[in-house]
Amino acid sequence: GESATEFPLAFQLTPSTDARAEAEREAILADPGFGKHFTDHMVSIEWTIEDGWHNAEVIPYGPISLDPAASVLHYAQEIFEGLKAYRHADGSIHTFRPEANAARLQRSAARLALPQLSTADFVESLKQLVAVDGSWVPDAPETSLYLRPFMFATESFLGVRAARKVGFYVIASPAGTYFTGGVAPVNIWLSKEFNRAGRGGMGAAKTGGNYASSLLPQELAYEKGCAQVLFLDSQEGKYLEELGGMNLFLVYKDGTLVTPASSSILEGITRDSIMQLARDRGHTVEIRQVEIEEWKAGSASGDIVEVFACGTAAVIAPVAQLLADDFALGTAGAPAGELTMSLRQELTDIQYGRIPDRHGWLTRL
Ligand code: PMP
Repeated sequence: GESATEFPLAFQLTPSTDARAEAEREAILADPGFGKHFTDHMVSIEWTIEDGWHNAEVIPYGPISLDPAASVLHYAQEIFEGLKAYRHADGSIHTFRPEANAARLQRSAARLALPQLSTADFVESLKQLVAVDGSWVPDAPETSLYLRPFMFATESFLGVRAARKVGFYVIASPAGTYFTGGVAPVNIWLSKEFNRAGRGGMGAAKTGGNYASSLLPQELAYEKGCAQVLFLDSQEGKYLEELGGMNLFLVYKDGTLVTPASSSILEGITRDSIMQLARDRGHTVEIRQVEIEEWKAGSASGDIVEVFACGTAAVIAPVAQLLADDFALGTAGAPAGELTMSLRQELTDIQYGRIPDRHGWLTRL
């Protein structure tokens, strides 16, 4: 399944004949929300066991026709990614660490028995889409074009085995400011009854099934007035894992940042970038198992001074409180921590080109 060449596939463009008019696009970009509106085109690449990756195309955005027996509909052989394109002050468009998303898609593909798409083809697919739909990258502060690459089994076959026919697609959706009216601390709900992933499972892969598994606990979190759900490990039920769609950091009084180590979490690119920026500033960063008891003790003693969640969508979300059925940590309405906010500022300054990209994290699209 390896792409036979290190050179990107050649893409064929079929321009849309009913692309939105400028006025309609501008109206959408003025208030895009998240994941509601899509650009005029999409990327499509086919893979078969005989021919590998082929038919790389940029085509009008629209429905995908699937046979009812397509194995993704039955056995969920599917993976995806999420990253953003940012408009800089000079109008140029950049994305953030796309090689890391490509590598994660490759790891997800390995776990789900899907074919490997090369990093070059992954990055080229983003370039090709933004080349035609660049006018959909908004320019208001903290806005972006969210890019959603995904791959799934298209073979019509009900036997349970890895599909021999697969599709890779990229769609794009303009994204507004995640926090309207300033970065607001969120509360999170501790899920005790449900886990997201288990040892040897798919937790480290970005695959739809993990999100299906998180929906019910996420609903319970909403009912408790919480924005996200926190999962513990499934073996012992005592180690912190991650939130439904974000990773977690605890900040200690001495400036140490701690983030959970686990083979069943999705290792975020935001998480990795924050660890680098914190180390650059001289902070100690620890990736290790963290018991929920440690958070309780550190909260009671005052040793844990800030908690935040991170991911591509919100970048960094300060955590005010952790709520559980029998306890609460933190203070209701607590303001965002100082380190939390300055790391957020630095990371977004790099993404939007306001400060030098010293780690070479940006790729011009
Ligand atoms: N964990 C989960 C379960 C996620 O869905 C995400 C979002 N992709 C993250 C963590 C954060 O990953 P990233 O920083 O790469 O967006």
